[in-house]
Amino acid sequence: MRNNKIIKSGLETNIDIFPSAEFKDYFDNINLSDFLVCSNVNLKKNINDDRAVSLKSLNDIKVFVKKASGQKCNYCWKISGVSCERKNCPIK
Ligand SMILES: [Zn+2]
Repeated sequence: MRNNKIIKSGLETNIDIFPSAEFKDYFDNINLSDFLVCSNVNLKKNINDDRAVSLKSLNDIKVFVKKASGQKCNYCWKISGVSCERKNCPIK
């Protein structure tokens, strides 16, 4: 997506991650959107989803990347339809 100029930065993306059960437990305990520098991450259950793409080096995880929609927060730079945890977040 970045090569095709659909997005300019990772923060313009939402990522669906389809982990194996083993990775799911691990992912539940970290802030994935901060870790991956994207706007939002959804953990999905069905690893056989047609849209999911395998990663080269990790067989147990698939991902699906979408362009994020909504407003950009001036503080965390994430794009979302809902406000973040910051008190002065401009997204309502
Ligand atoms: Zn915000």
